[in-house]
Amino acid sequence: MAGRHILVINAGSSSLKFALVNEQQEQFPIQGLAERLGSNEAMLHWQQDGEKHSRTISNATHTEALAQLLPLVEAVAGGKISGVGHRVVHGGEDFTAACLIDSKALTAINANTPLAPLHNPANLQGIAAVTALYPDLPQVAVFDTAFHQTMPAKAYRYALPEALYREHGVRRYGFHGTSHQYVSTQAAKLADLATNNSSWLIAHLGNGCSTCAVLNGHSVDTSMGMTPLEGLVMGTRSGDVDPNLHGHLARTLGWSLSDIDRMLNQDSGLLGLSGLSNDMRQLEAARSDGHPGATLAIDVFCYRLAKSLAALSCALPDLDGLVFTGGIGENSELIRAKTVAQLGLLNLHINNDANANCVRGKSGPIHQSGSRRILVVPTNEERQIAIEALALLNE
Ligand code: AMP
Repeated sequence: MAGRHILVINAGSSSLKFALVNEQQEQFPIQGLAERLGSNEAMLHWQQDGEKHSRTISNATHTEALAQLLPLVEAVAGGKISGVGHRVVHGGEDFTAACLIDSKALTAINANTPLAPLHNPANLQGIAAVTALYPDLPQVAVFDTAFHQTMPAKAYRYALPEALYREHGVRRYGFHGTSHQYVSTQAAKLADLATNNSSWLIAHLGNGCSTCAVLNGHSVDTSMGMTPLEGLVMGTRSGDVDPNLHGHLARTLGWSLSDIDRMLNQDSGLLGLSGLSNDMRQLEAARSDGHPGATLAIDVFCYRLAKSLAALSCALPDLDGLVFTGGIGENSELIRAKTVAQLGLLNLHINNDANANCVRGKSGPIHQSGSRRILVVPTNEERQIAIEALALLNE
């Protein structure tokens, strides 16, 4: 197979997602997921040539799962993988771009663990697993936060005592950077504009949701903060709430910090508002049947999203367009229409036919003539990680 191959890995605490990316092919030759690692029910699932396969890998660790999947990946790649690109969640202020993984990078990723206590250790486990099996293969870390390191201080600082920032890194970092970078670059291509001379509002709407203002290829503000809880209403995350809520719940209900954390991260958002589901497809169906909770959840979701986009427009001197991406952004005609209907002051007006047609992986414009651009661009974080890994290998 012509073209270089990068194996992209996204390691979670008990899972490992992977995709083989060929620089010359749009489709991934093989991709899959090892899940429930460390348990009796551990499984490896993969997709190759449009066919799905599964294998039981009881009690497999990350390394053991990799040992099982690497021969499959190598066979597809004709024996040659040029490198591995790891998604790493938090790079703090240490990483403003992707980097080749060496002992210094590992130390810095580890040092940022307090900012992402669940994710960074899992990402490090994925790196250790590859190192154990292929010590000489170049590995690259691509950070969710790095793209947002170009935000100015007025966007990333909280109005808190300075020592909390200086000594403890309490500031806004932003996430979904890989997606925002990929999507804003693709949007510029679609609009026939130079990335370094374009300005976009991006709405990444999946189970996690964030907005980003991208000016000349750089993030200048984003809705997520020190953690991915800040900002928009998400599947199970609340997004912004009054910071005094913690004290109120502790005083009046006796809730502990972990009770409050769990409620805000796992029981809130679309799920909490609707009392039904965190899945937008299910909520749209229930709304059509008149379900009041689903109707309210969708109203709040779209209003808060529109407010966030309008607020982020303050970061841009001009606006070349609004871009929708993520599972909801790429597929939901309803959410796009309801959100844009509240952004008329930004001269954003949707074309209903184009909006209805732009689903299931299609990209393209969905605005009326005379409106600013509104685009749908499917995200591709694996591709972006591979692009960044290949760029580093080229150096
Ligand atoms: P992601 O995390 O990017 O995979 O996105 C997951 C979200 O996308 C879930 O809320 C899904 O319900 C939503 N989604 C996927 N397909 C559709 C669709 N056709 N209409 C509405 N929402 C969708």
